[in-house]
Formats: sequence, C-alpha cells, structure tokens
Amino acid sequence: MNENIRTRFAPSPTGYMHIGNLHTALFEWLFARHEGGKFILRIEDTDVERHTPEAVQVIYDGLRWLGLDWDEGPDVGGPHGPYVQSERVEIYQGYLQQLVAEGKAYECYCTPEELTARREAMRARGEAPRYDNRCRTLTEAERAAAQAAGQQACVRLRMPEGGATVVRDLIQGEVSFENALVGDPVIGKTSGFPTYHMAVVVDDYLMQISHVIRAAEHLANTQVHMQIQAALDFPTPTYAHLPLILGEDRTKLSKRHGAVSVVEYQEKGFLPEALFNFLALLGWSPGGSEEVLSREEIIERFTLEACSASPAVFDLAKAEWLNSEYMKQMPGEEMATRLLPLLQEHGLMEAEPSPERLAWLAQVADLMKERAPLLTTYAEWARYFFTDDYEYDEKARDKWLTKPETPGVLRQLAERLETLAGWDAESVEGAVRGLAEEVGVGAGKVIHPCRAAVTGTTVGPSLFHLLELLPQETVVMRLRRAAEAFGEQ
Ligand code: GLU
Repeated sequence: MNENIRTRFAPSPTGYMHIGNLHTALFEWLFARHEGGKFILRIEDTDVERHTPEAVQVIYDGLRWLGLDWDEGPDVGGPHGPYVQSERVEIYQGYLQQLVAEGKAYECYCTPEELTARREAMRARGEAPRYDNRCRTLTEAERAAAQAAGQQACVRLRMPEGGATVVRDLIQGEVSFENALVGDPVIGKTSGFPTYHMAVVVDDYLMQISHVIRAAEHLANTQVHMQIQAALDFPTPTYAHLPLILGEDRTKLSKRHGAVSVVEYQEKGFLPEALFNFLALLGWSPGGSEEVLSREEIIERFTLEACSASPAVFDLAKAEWLNSEYMKQMPGEEMATRLLPLLQEHGLMEAEPSPERLAWLAQVADLMKERAPLLTTYAEWARYFFTDDYEYDEKARDKWLTKPETPGVLRQLAERLETLAGWDAESVEGAVRGLAEEVGVGAGKVIHPCRAAVTGTTVGPSLFHLLELLPQETVVMRLRRAAEAFGEQ
C-alpha cells in the first residue's frame, strides 16, 4: 500500500465519453491500483458552457461499466473536495490574485479583435502566431486608464523570456519546450473563471496528485503547467503521457473510424471485462505473448515503464477476438445474465423469466458461446431458440431447402420426431440416423435440411443438442412448415 500515490481522472462533462477517455481513465486507475494508491475523479467543467447532471452521469456510467472505482470524487467526497471545478472558483481566484500581486502574472486588456488582428499580421510576416505580450509592459497609468474605461481584463502568466521547460515524462522521456516560442498564456478568463491550465495545476497540487497520467495531447500543455507550478512554488508532479490512439489508417481515432463513444461499445455487445483487457493492451505491454489477461493479472503486472511512447493502433478485429475469447470462457449462467437484457429488448425473452427458463437460457448460452464475437451477434444468431419468426438464409435455401427431395425428407423426419418417446439429444440423433438409413442416404442428407428448416441457417452448434433445447412440437412444426413452404416449388 502506498497511499501517497495518487492519480486522477479529470474529464470534462461533455455529455459523451470517448473511448480514448476511458483508456486514459483505465491507465490512471491501473497505476493507482497496482501501487496501492488512490484514484480520484475530478470533473473539469470550467470550459463547459453549462454542465448538466446527465453529462456527469455519463462519466460515472462509463467508469462503472468498466469496473473502475474511485476513492475520492464528487459523489463519494474526500478530504480534498469539492471535486467539481466550478465549485472551486474562489480557490483559483485566490491564486490568480496572488500571482498578479507578486508580479508573476498580469492583467491583459487586449480585446479578442485586437488579438486576432495582431495574429493575422504575424502570420502575414511569416511568424508563428502567438500573443505578443503587449500588456506585460503596460505602465501603471495605462493600466489605470484601461480600468477606468471599464475594459475587461484576463490574467496572463509571465513566461520566462528564454530557456526551455523540460518535461521528464515517464513514458515520453525527456521533452524540451522553448519558452520564447509561447506567448504569455491566459490563466484567468475575463469572466473570472480560471482557464484549464490554471485549474488543473491548482487542483493537482491541492489534491496531492503524485502522478499526472493523461493523454498525449496534453504533453505540450505541460510546459505552461510547469511554469504555473514554478510561479506558485508548487512541486511538479510526475508526468506520464499515454501514447496517442490511432485508427487503423494511422490517423487520430475519430468518428470516421466507427464507434468512438463508450456507449456504442456497450450497445455493440462488448463485455466490459473484454474491453478492459483490450484497452489495457493498447499502449501497454504485459511482457509476454499472452493477450487474454484477467483484471487481477493486469493490475499486478501494470507499470508505466512498460507503456509505449509511440502511438497505439485501435484494432477493432482484435477487440472482437478478445471479446469472443471472454465469451467462450464464461459459464452459461453468467452469459445468460449478460444476454437477458438484450434478448428482452428484442422481445425474445419475457420480462420476468422463471428459474426454469433461466436455466434453459444458460444451456442455450453454453451451446452457442463458441460462436459469436459479440453479445449482439450472439442474440442475433441464437434467434431461432426464442421465436419461430426467423428467416431462411440464402445458403440454407439454395443448398438444402429448395432441393426437390428436401420437403419429403422433412415430412418423414417430422413424423418420426413427433412420436419419439424421449426428447434428448441421444434419442433425436437415433431418430435422425435411423431415417437416413431407412431411406438409404448419408446422415448429412437428413441433418443439413433439418438444420436449415429448424434454424434457417446452415451453421450452428451440434444439431442434436440444439434440437434438445427446443420443444418437440416446435421442431415438428418447423419441419412441416418448411416442407410446405418449399414443397410446391
Ligand atoms: N479536462 C482535461 C481533458 O478532459 C483533463 C486534462 C488533464 O488530465 O490534465 O482532457
């Protein structure tokens, strides 16, 4: 246990959680759990126009779904609250005033129009546009005049004029940023709110965050953060910037690459434990070739040193493969629990199934789990277990159902099965094979048409075991129904 290790997840409540955000949260959480430290949730809403309780709920839901629990946060409290930035504005204002009083920051009266015009001029001269630090050198009289005229001021940090800020990052290594290249950054807005830079530095300090682990996009911001820390005499936390996550075309993961919001992964039918495993391997290597690792193993092996600095490619096919591996390993009862809401949503299972029905569902789940990559595919592929209303797919039609001899075979089989005394896989198999022998054909000539008729498809689990799980009269009805449908062709 090392309670001094403290990491935080600091999302903005935008009403939507990007899979990349969940990846960041996972790594922050893994590091804290590996070290026996604390994981803190902080809501960064100073840049959001208006945050709604629903938007914060989206964050809670995403984290909970993946099983990431937090030790301190808006809902659970903790010794360093409040954990919502909009409730901490006075704290930031105190530090802003301190910096201005010490001459480490200053008020800037430039209007947005002036700033734009000057940036344009810089661009025209071929310079990289940045703030030209004009208000840094205003005289007292000029300041007084601006104030008297009621001009609104933001607060800017006085950056060092030369030298470089060196970030010693646990993942990205040593990265140096020249100070002269950035204009003095805004740390307090005209509205009195802090900017992201200011709020993040103050909070990371007051919340005693030991390790700032976050997305690579923030690496460049660290220069400003370290300068604010220096101005406030705050120690610098340890930084670890996670690798960028790219789509398969090696551009930054975005909507163009398909699902990017966490909810979409839930809806697609990913198991949270599989996505946990998949996201953990995105930019972290457990050192070894195994890829299916339990949550406990991942926590135990996780280190920031084993994270890669180079971008990680989001491979959806691998995510699906991992998901299918988790489904295969899952006991039928557990699978049934996961599938139930989905099946209910599609009207395939009743709202309150009896224990017998649940036991039956567990058997269906067990029989089918070798096959589907996702819960949704699973529910789709297993449809014929739950309803007589399914389609005959093209292959089932072309290969078997439309064959002239099929309706006859189906009718004969229906007759045999109708009078079968015991309804179990063994007896059904006996009846099927018996018929094949009697008619003088290979067993496949009965098995395949039967599967096509009863399930609408040519692929699936062991036919006799699946028939066993359907009611006898249903099977008989389906055989006759297909015989009739294809009989007159
Ligand atoms: N609110 C920032 C974000 O959502 C957090 C950045 C940080 O971790 O410092 O990207």
